[in-house]
Amino acid sequence: MSEWTPETWLIASARNRTEGEPLNVPPVFASNFYLPHERLYSRTDGTATTDALEELLGGLESAKALVFGSGMAAAATVFHGLNVDSEIAVPEDPYHGVAGIVEEGEAQGRWRVRRLDQADTNAWIDAVASCDLVWLETPENPLMTVADLPAICGAPRGGNTLVAVDSTFATPLNQKPLDLGADVVMHSATKFIGGHSDLLSGCVLTRNEELLEEYAARRLRNGATIGAMEAFLTLRGARTLSLRLERAQANAMELAQRLESNPGVNRVLYPGLTSHPTHEVAKTFMSGFGAMLSFETTGDGDRATDVCNRVELINHATSLGGVETTMERRSVIPGQERIPPTLIRLSVGCENVDDLWADFSQALA
Ligand SMILES: *Cc1c(COP(=O)(O)O)cnc(C)c1O
Repeated sequence: MSEWTPETWLIASARNRTEGEPLNVPPVFASNFYLPHERLYSRTDGTATTDALEELLGGLESAKALVFGSGMAAAATVFHGLNVDSEIAVPEDPYHGVAGIVEEGEAQGRWRVRRLDQADTNAWIDAVASCDLVWLETPENPLMTVADLPAICGAPRGGNTLVAVDSTFATPLNQKPLDLGADVVMHSATKFIGGHSDLLSGCVLTRNEELLEEYAARRLRNGATIGAMEAFLTLRGARTLSLRLERAQANAMELAQRLESNPGVNRVLYPGLTSHPTHEVAKTFMSGFGAMLSFETTGDGDRATDVCNRVELINHATSLGGVETTMERRSVIPGQERIPPTLIRLSVGCENVDDLWADFSQALA
């Protein structure tokens, strides 16, 4: 990145500052281009729109970015680079799509898997010393457990260990895993980066040119390319990431505190609260605690469902990272049965916090 701060970079980068050119790189709807030119075909060579998005995202983490049609396309690109008979370490409850990739490869005998408690830093340090891929997701869905990235990413490597971090919940603004020693960062740009719940998009970031080439080659072979409109909308959404995140995480902190003292709530999980098991770790390297939190209602799963059905302003919906607040029970997602039945995950948006709280108050009453 240039000498600009990330807030300015988000707004000022990736523009073609030439007389007569539009301020914003438009969506280029093209599969092919007139020759002779270095750009032949957009699946292999991208477009001006994808170039701009990659410039913006890469610059935020002083890396090269590759954008994909979704976060899962980006994640799969990392896993599918492993050789047969690899050993990998993943969190006990990674994002369910990632869990699916891990389980399929395990069933095919493609790799052996260590499933580690995100808070067990020593187990991760061991994995860095001996596994081929160490895949972290932090803060982790839905208990918001924060991995000790400085200790894990900086731990001595055994041979060719690749350390990758799904940094979706933190966004490029709240943590910089590459600065801490990770090799690869992945984001689902569907979430906070896009920020409006209107697209699917993902990216991989790395400073390793060899990996970058390998991932780019796999992306074009698999056709995991992003569409022109989605690339444009991701770029447009990203311009306001820092404004949205600032408001959303201030709201999240306020709601976490208010929920914690509400008699209808048993427990609140937000890395910004001193009561969170990994608050102290998070404080050491995160520049903000994000806009994701979970809480457990009193009573049983039916009561939690009831609360989800009673909200009027807050949206009872899955996914996260939009300007609008959403919430859902996670234990009802297939494969997530280990999650407490009364747990509700909240993606806090940019509404006025008092309006959000009024909605909670009536739904929890
Ligand atoms: C949503 C999400 C993904 C998958 O991204 P898609 O854009 O939905 O494919 C991966 N990891 C995390 C943490 C996510 O929230």
